Amino acid sequence: MSILKQLVFTPRCLICSRFGVEFCPTCIKGVAPFRAKDLSEITSCFCAGEYAGWLRDALICYKNGDVRYVELLSQVLYNTLDKFLGFENLTLIPIPSSHQKIKERGFDSVTNLCRNMIQRNKSIAMDETNLFLRRIVLDQVGLTAAQRHSNLEGAFGIRRTVNGTVVLVDDVVTTGATLNSAARILKFAGSQRVFAVTLCGSPKSR
Ligand SMILES: [Zn+2]
Repeated sequence: MSILKQLVFTPRCLICSRFGVEFCPTCIKGVAPFRAKDLSEITSCFCAGEYAGWLRDALICYKNGDVRYVELLSQVLYNTLDKFLGFENLTLIPIPSSHQKIKERGFDSVTNLCRNMIQRNKSIAMDETNLFLRRIVLDQVGLTAAQRHSNLEGAFGIRRTVNGTVVLVDDVVTTGATLNSAARILKFAGSQRVFAVTLCGSPKSR
């Protein structure tokens, strides 16, 4: 194969640019999953890594519409679930994105990560149509704790009853206002326990 063809067709790690793989295990091992601080409505919240380094950069690229990152990001989320919770008897529920965000990106970022995870392991259940946004919410970034709270007051709706243990999935946890708000309504709908797993935890989540 000519060098040019090799450059074009050989995959390269999205993180370190090493040839031969789309992302290498060494890079993935560079993020350290951790348990976030306790949130009032959540049994436990786990993060794949800090909002820093390649994980933050990859998440930003993905949220800007680069779907190449879906495999990588769902792999680190999957590893986090595997490490802390396992996959038995739980249902993933993605935090819904606004219609505007889905339109801008061309896909629903968190739901896509969950879909990718259930392809890896058929014993994982997922319910992506139950929890929904009832109205437009502002991006939580840059809001104070009080503003975050009122931004989310009554923002989530639920379509059906919920049974057993569910795991909320989101991209970033900061104060946990979004997760708490979603968990509250899931418990109201019948869920006994609500866990959460996110890609990144900001320093405030520690
Ligand atoms: Zn790499």
